[in-house]
Amino acid sequence: MSSYDVAVIGSGPGGYVAAIRCAQLGMKTAIIEKYNTLGGTCLNVGCIPSKALLDSSHHYEDAIKHFDEHGIEVGDVKFNLEKMIARKQGVVDMTTKGIEFLMGKNKIDVYQGVGSFIDATHIQIDGEKKETIEAKNTIVATGSKPSTLPFITLDKERIITSTEALKLKEVPKHMIVIGGGVIGLELGQVYKRLGAEVTVVEYMDRLIAGMDSAQSKEIQKALKKQKMKFALSHAVTAVERNGDEITVKATNNKKNAEVEFKGDYVLVAVGRHAYTEGLNLEAVGIPTDKRGKIEVNEHLQTNVSNIYAIGDVIKGAMLAHKAEEEGVFVAETLAGQKPHINYNLIPGVVYTWPEVASVGKTEEQLKEAGVVYKSGQFPMRALGRSRASGDIDGFVKILADKTTDEVLGVHMVGARVADLISEGVTAMEFRASAEDIARMSHAHPTYAEAVKEAALAATEDRPLHI
Ligand code: FAD
Repeated sequence: MSSYDVAVIGSGPGGYVAAIRCAQLGMKTAIIEKYNTLGGTCLNVGCIPSKALLDSSHHYEDAIKHFDEHGIEVGDVKFNLEKMIARKQGVVDMTTKGIEFLMGKNKIDVYQGVGSFIDATHIQIDGEKKETIEAKNTIVATGSKPSTLPFITLDKERIITSTEALKLKEVPKHMIVIGGGVIGLELGQVYKRLGAEVTVVEYMDRLIAGMDSAQSKEIQKALKKQKMKFALSHAVTAVERNGDEITVKATNNKKNAEVEFKGDYVLVAVGRHAYTEGLNLEAVGIPTDKRGKIEVNEHLQTNVSNIYAIGDVIKGAMLAHKAEEEGVFVAETLAGQKPHINYNLIPGVVYTWPEVASVGKTEEQLKEAGVVYKSGQFPMRALGRSRASGDIDGFVKILADKTTDEVLGVHMVGARVADLISEGVTAMEFRASAEDIARMSHAHPTYAEAVKEAALAATEDRPLHI
């Protein structure tokens, strides 16, 4: 039987990063993955394929809607969905192969099969063959699966999750998206650009409910301009399929009225739940909370001292970069170091166009906590860069402590804000004041100038270009 210092169960961004960092720190490491490609949800059916389709559909939309205003005449533009999906798969394959390479480079043994606990130091792997390995420590990184509502039967043909939406064979005529969160908006926008009518039905009274409400309003306004439809404050009560027709029934909570939406595809994007099936947690006595997540302490250690858990399978934001930070954190903890994660500074991003990005506290959170703050906001439309590219929707908003000027939150909507949010993270990590950002030179013309201007607005209400 092979013995390891560390076994990692699950090869998503949490698991594979944990394995690499363990190996870097000199631990003999194994990684166990039940599928035959590495990379987990993120690389196979999450972050990477969704961004590939967002990019392809964005190019198409530019060609049919925006090339003309730039003076580019291309005639009759068509897309080939099969080719687009095949390209997406090519990007996924290249990326997952990259993880295989990294495992080899770091001398990490890869086992393909379902890993389940025999006891606290032995794991059975059920793959093409059955084998058992011994591990002094185990990191559980088994991730999550799409959630549904109790009364919805996912047939995976027309009543689908994000996984199926990434490989449709036709563009829906009318896609009803249940859930106005990140995944619903991103995939809704892909199919809207390709010609589908898209209606987003959301229970809350705003989109992307966890972010600053100004962002919710701005992204809704921008997506409405792109002809996406929204039914907010609607509680879905039933989803029925009759042949190719789908009926979504909902209660309009504002009007207390029953409504129906008819379409040919329903994308159920109501969140994801932790995945622990097959792990045999009972054998080691590790509890899960009422949402099915593995309980861990501040060291991400379960109640069994040599078993840790990270990523989507534990509490916190279900994001790839959060899982990665936790992977590094546990590896360094095992090596006797004292790592730290600032969960307040894990950025959140929606990769629609315009993009939405956020870090730190929202205005709602600051108000609730009774923090006295000031706010500076700058519209993208006032930037030369935005006018040059034609991407004028959005803003940057900086929230800072009223007394100390320390930046407490940065919230953005606009072109390339998924990349711009790093400036907010860096500033907050170094506990910058709004004035610190305001006094830094930002290249002209860039979208980043909106960050400087918002910081100027937050400092003494002295933006230069508005
Ligand atoms: P996962 O990536 O879910 O990996 C878990 C792995 O464990 C899987 O490969 C699974 O097969 C394996 N496994 C499970 N049980 C066992 C077992 N018993 N034995 C062996 N293997 C097992 N996040 C972002 O940060 N940015 C994005 O842009 C983004 N876009 C997304 C788009 C979509 C459509 C979706 C669905 C998700 C997106 N996410 C995004 C979320 C992101 O994918 C997850 O937060 C991330 O993958 C979590 O990583 P993880 O390592 O915890 O688990």
